[in-house]
Amino acid sequence: MTIKVLGYAAQSSKVPLAPFEFTRRDPRDDDVVIEVLYCGVCHSDLHQARNDWGGSQYPVVPGHEVVGRVTSVGKGVTQFKVGDNVGIGCMVDSCRVCKPCQQGIEQYCEEGCVQTYNGFDRHDGLPTYGGYSNTILASEDFILKMPDGLDLKAAAPLLCAGITTWAPLRHYNVGKGSKVAVVGLGGLGHMALKLAHALGADVTLFTRSPGKEEDARRLGAQHIVISSDEQQMQAVSGQFDLIIDTVPYEHDINPYMPTLTLDGTLVFVGLLGDITPVLSTLPLIMGRRSVTGSAIGGIKETQEMLDFCGEHGIVSDVEMIKMPQINDAYERMIKSDVKYRFVIEMDSLQA
Ligand code: NAP
Ligand code: ZN
Ligand code: ZN
Repeated sequence: MTIKVLGYAAQSSKVPLAPFEFTRRDPRDDDVVIEVLYCGVCHSDLHQARNDWGGSQYPVVPGHEVVGRVTSVGKGVTQFKVGDNVGIGCMVDSCRVCKPCQQGIEQYCEEGCVQTYNGFDRHDGLPTYGGYSNTILASEDFILKMPDGLDLKAAAPLLCAGITTWAPLRHYNVGKGSKVAVVGLGGLGHMALKLAHALGADVTLFTRSPGKEEDARRLGAQHIVISSDEQQMQAVSGQFDLIIDTVPYEHDINPYMPTLTLDGTLVFVGLLGDITPVLSTLPLIMGRRSVTGSAIGGIKETQEMLDFCGEHGIVSDVEMIKMPQINDAYERMIKSDVKYRFVIEMDSLQA
């Protein structure tokens, strides 16, 4: 039986999101069907609704920080049952056989993973629609178990903002003794502060916004550097093993490079596109420093991150909104006016 769904969609890059009725595919034997309770609002949702990156397939139903309750399972499902609290992040499928898939880093699938929205189902070619909707489904292999004891609303952003910052922290072995800096205090940035702090690192925030200092300390930063202040930038020269750059738009990273240690690494997670102005190779050559990027995280490491957050009581700082407020929320996100993630209460979704 096909599933009738109510959601919110952008019908083109130029119009606001509005109610949209659609159907999801017939559930397959390995599928878990979920009633969506909450969905976080990622800056990527805005980028894709507005076609900032090109390639958006309309209608776009955004949403990849999805938390809900299982309402039915296919007969081949072994890991989930009706009533379980579960999550879906940024992917709902991948080829499962290539080397990255075998390594559990399906986000780097050689055939391209299937995104939760703005993607196409591998079996029937139908478009995928995300979590700004009342029902979603996916193969059990792409479903996450939400740890007991975490507030589900506030845990929703872990499924993208959490894993996207966790993955580079783990890849670069951040722990006690590491010095980590985070550029930008938004959804990803605030999770990076919390997670790096919980892993035992000494944490610094680079921000353009002087008003965020008190929050940054509460979230886990020991030091705050106003990135436009040259003296403050010079004072942290040669310090950081790892910089996680969460800024969504073009910006100059030259001032950050000398703040890395010998062999230090700046990881882009925010900007998808060109870096301008020109990047000087001087700090790369003279300090063997690297610039790289990182995409979300695999399913196994997402579960590892959720379990870590369950053990340490880590969730996002969220502002709850009703579905019709989404367009205002996007405008506020552009102005960095969110502390620090909007989450949609899905029972506010009405035809
Ligand atoms: P967000 O909540 O809007 O936060 C972005 C932060 O960057 C802002 O709070 C602001 O912090 C800073 N910022 C914004 N505009 C800036 C500008 N023009 N110049 C300098 N700093 C600026 O966004 P988010 O949801 O954290 O997402 C951040 C980016 O990561 C987005 O581009 C998103 O698409 C991307 N993303 C990537 C992945 C991945 O897999 N790599 C996954 C999820 C999201 P301050 O006020 O503190 O400076
Ligand atoms: Zn996201
Ligand atoms: Zn693959």
